[in-house]
Amino acid sequence: MTVDEALKILKQRGYKYTGKREEIIRICAKEKRYLSAKDILERIKDQFPNLSFDTVYRNLSTFVELGILEATDLEGEGKFRLACSSTGHHHHHVICTECGKTSSLPGCPMSLFASLPEEFHVTGHKFEVYGTCRDCLHQ
Ligand SMILES: [Zn+2]
Ligand SMILES: [Zn+2]
Ligand SMILES: [Zn+2]
Repeated sequence: MTVDEALKILKQRGYKYTGKREEIIRICAKEKRYLSAKDILERIKDQFPNLSFDTVYRNLSTFVELGILEATDLEGEGKFRLACSSTGHHHHHVICTECGKTSSLPGCPMSLFASLPEEFHVTGHKFEVYGTCRDCLHQ
């Protein structure tokens, strides 16, 4: 996902273009790792001093719904990053809990489960691997 692709999705779905929305997307695109709403507010507050935490959080949630961002929960805090691909292709992540950097995993563990409870209708699943990346390990 690029900034331009993200802005195109916003437009297509009828969301108004605003400078702060673009800036939030730009920050996520630049960082390429999981950030909290607080991290994002920290980076944007010089440019938009009146922006509240709630507004940032609301925008981030909207972006997740639109498939622009991916979200997860690290140590009880919501974290966000730009979606790895614009196709929304199903994938899972390895996540560094120190710096939030991710890489995507080849394949999906769901394929290991030959049988699920009878008449259980699957609507989704979560799978993430946590640890420390090479950079953080050698710091
Ligand atoms: Zn991803
Ligand atoms: Zn790391
Ligand atoms: Zn999967």
